Amino acid sequence: MCAKVPNPEFANLVIERGGETLNLCFQCGTCTASCPSGRNTAFKTRQLIRKAQLGLKEDIMDSDDLWMCTTCYTCTERCPRGVEIVDIIIALRNIASEEGHMFDDHRKVSNSLIKNGHTVPLTDDYAKLRASMGLPEKPPTVLSDPKALEDFQTIIKKVGFDKLVGGN
Ligand code: SF4
Ligand code: SF4
Repeated sequence: MCAKVPNPEFANLVIERGGETLNLCFQCGTCTASCPSGRNTAFKTRQLIRKAQLGLKEDIMDSDDLWMCTTCYTCTERCPRGVEIVDIIIALRNIASEEGHMFDDHRKVSNSLIKNGHTVPLTDDYAKLRASMGLPEKPPTVLSDPKALEDFQTIIKKVGFDKLVGGN
């Protein structure tokens, strides 16, 4: 088994990209104990922060853990060291997605957003449900305005979101 080699350059990149408080963490574990996602998955917030401190890039990029956080901010509110944990996770996700890593379900949701202008598409069942409640079948959003959807998709392309997601 080969030892994991710390990579300070990667840790510094995380700090530069929004994780300025990374090195304030003293590994108390309060974040892990507070995390609702960690109760239902193997994700451990403290461990992710430690890996980021050590710059264990491959470990972070190759694991689904990075994508298990729901950005609920419970950990950030409770951290005794004032570590901006969500900012660090977002910095890691930004770096990961720029390098082609993204959790499959996040990619699917992002592609749905690009295609429909909404993360959740309007299905026939939802349209019928809306009509049964006296609402227009399509809500007054991009779903009922093709020009607005076109404008939205133009913006998405201009900011490069479609390339980031690897849009289909
Ligand atoms: S709660 Fe804060 S100090 Fe404690 S392990 Fe988590 S990030 Fe580090
Ligand atoms: S913000 Fe993310 S890591 Fe922190 S408690 Fe919520 S789900 Fe867990």
